[in-house]
Amino acid sequence: MVSTTNQPSTPAGLEPVVPVEPAVIGCATCGVEYGEDPAALPEVCPICADERQYVPGTGQVWVTQAELAGRTRIDVAELGPDQWGVHAEGVGIGQTMQVVRTPEGVLVWDPTGLADVATARWIASLGPVLAIVASHPHMYGAQVGWSRALGDAPVLVNTADAEWLQRSDDVVQPWSGSLDLTEGLALRTLGGHFPGSTVAHWPDGAGGAGVLLAGDTIMANPDRRTVSFMRSYPNRLPLSAGVVARIAADVADLHYRAMWSNFSNAITDDADARVQDSARRHVAWVRGEHDDLT
Ligand SMILES: [Zn+2]
Repeated sequence: MVSTTNQPSTPAGLEPVVPVEPAVIGCATCGVEYGEDPAALPEVCPICADERQYVPGTGQVWVTQAELAGRTRIDVAELGPDQWGVHAEGVGIGQTMQVVRTPEGVLVWDPTGLADVATARWIASLGPVLAIVASHPHMYGAQVGWSRALGDAPVLVNTADAEWLQRSDDVVQPWSGSLDLTEGLALRTLGGHFPGSTVAHWPDGAGGAGVLLAGDTIMANPDRRTVSFMRSYPNRLPLSAGVVARIAADVADLHYRAMWSNFSNAITDDADARVQDSARRHVAWVRGEHDDLT
C-alpha cells in the first residue's frame, strides 16, 4: 500500500487531502455528488431511499468535498499489472475505485466519492483518461469532480439508469448496450442489480489471464470461490433464476480468469468457471431445489 496523500518521500497520511471541488455537496451515505447549492438538495437522497440502499436511522446527512477531505485518507494498492485500487477511507459506501491502464489510455472505474488533487495528478501521469465509468448508480461517486480533475474526461452513464444521475454536466455522455473503449477494453450492460448494471471486460488484464471488473453486477464473496447476484446487497434481496441465468450466459464467452467486484472483493483464479458454478447454485436455490435442506 502506498498513500497518494504523500508523494514518495513523505510518510503515509501526513499530508492533507486536497479536494478538487471543495464546495460540491454529496450524500454522506452513498457518496454520490449533487452540486454546490444546498437549496437545490432533495430532502432525502433518492439513491439511498430506494429499496436497494438505505437512509441511516440517524437521517439524511449531506457533506461537502472539503469536509470529506478533512477526515479521510486515500490509499492506492497495486492489484495487478497496470491495475490499481484507490480507496478513500470513510467516504460513501467505501468502494474501491479501479484504475486500469491500457496502451491507448486509462479507465477510471467506480469513482470514489471524493476527487482529490494528488490522486488525480497520479492518474493523469498514467496516460490519457479514456473514460470515467460507474458500474451502477451507487458508484457514481464524485464522477464529474474526477472528470474536472482529469481534463474533462468523459463520464459515461448508462441510459438505462440515467434517472438516478444527480449531477448533470456537459462531460456526461450517455451510452447503452456494449461499448468498446479500446480494442482490448469493453463495457457490457448485464443488468440485474440495476437495469444498466455494467461490467468492464479487459481480456489483456492480469498479464493476459483476463479481467472482469464486475462492480455489484456479480459480487465476489468472502470465500473467494463463489459469487452472488442480488438486487440489493445491504437489504439482501436476491435476483430471480431467470435473470441470473441470463447474466451467466452473457459472460460465458468472455475471457477472464480474474474478477474484481466492489470493495476489492476478488476471485483471482478460475473466475470464469466459478461465476458459472455460482450462477447454477443460485438458480437451484431460488427455484427451491434445496428446500429439503432448510
Ligand atoms: Zn445517497
